Amino acid sequence: MSAPVCRACGSPSTRTRGGKTGNYLRRTFTFHDCDDCGLLFVEPFSGFDVYDDAYYRGEGPDPYVDYETEYRDWRASDRRHELTDLARIATRHLEARADTNRHGEPLRWLDFGCGAGALLKSLRDTGSVAGRRLELAGHDVGSWADRLRSKDGLRILSPAELSALPDGSFDVVSMIEVIEHLPSPAEPVALAARLLRPGGLLLLTTGNLASPVARRAGIGYHYCAPEIHVSLFNPSCLARLYARSGLEPLPVRFDGAVRFKVLKTLRHRRLLRALAEIALRLPPVVAAIDRLYGVSAMPCAVKPRPPA
Ligand SMILES: [Zn+2]
Repeated sequence: MSAPVCRACGSPSTRTRGGKTGNYLRRTFTFHDCDDCGLLFVEPFSGFDVYDDAYYRGEGPDPYVDYETEYRDWRASDRRHELTDLARIATRHLEARADTNRHGEPLRWLDFGCGAGALLKSLRDTGSVAGRRLELAGHDVGSWADRLRSKDGLRILSPAELSALPDGSFDVVSMIEVIEHLPSPAEPVALAARLLRPGGLLLLTTGNLASPVARRAGIGYHYCAPEIHVSLFNPSCLARLYARSGLEPLPVRFDGAVRFKVLKTLRHRRLLRALAEIALRLPPVVAAIDRLYGVSAMPCAVKPRPPA
């Protein structure tokens, strides 16, 4: 069988890294490296059927997700650390760009891949970002999206509704741990680039396969879960993906997002989790973990303003 073309850049110059059996679907998956953009991608793609209700309860291929708690009360979930961090980063970006002429205008924020809606609900509860009232929208598919739309009164847009929106419809687009799940990761980034207004912010997180921990583990890294994480990035590969959609990489310093990543993996280990919660109050501990996992090494992005 010939090597598959890269799922991010389309290059035919790819190499097989190795095989791995899924922990959930007991079959062998193959990991391929792209020589041109650095993407590590998985064949075959398992499809979206694994994202059923059991998945969202943490009983599927990812034992660390806890969407039930996030949906019920985001403040009670470990994810609160990440959610407040994202609002802080957006605030800092908007204030640094001195968007003062937009005071009084609502801040239009799309959460692409909104899952159980925790980010949308946390933003709705907070009410404003950088002093601007929020106008929120989300996108996802499946039963949670229906629930958020009908029971929680959130504006959840279908793929067709997103496609029909005019260019520049949002000031912020968030894409939190989304692109690693998608076999064509360039598509949502291109959509975000179109839907952002010039100067707008793409808040994107995904695992870093060039981090010290990931390099040491290779495809044995727990993040290389081939049933669900099929497009795996490193900082330069992500920057290239942005560039192809006309976005500029934006360095970001994550804090609460780092705390959340540690706490979620200790979800089923109560004592260790309690100790970690204390240790993570110390900024040097957060910084050390950030370096090990390369969280802040992964850039977000800005849509450049046209030259004056
Ligand atoms: Zn590539």
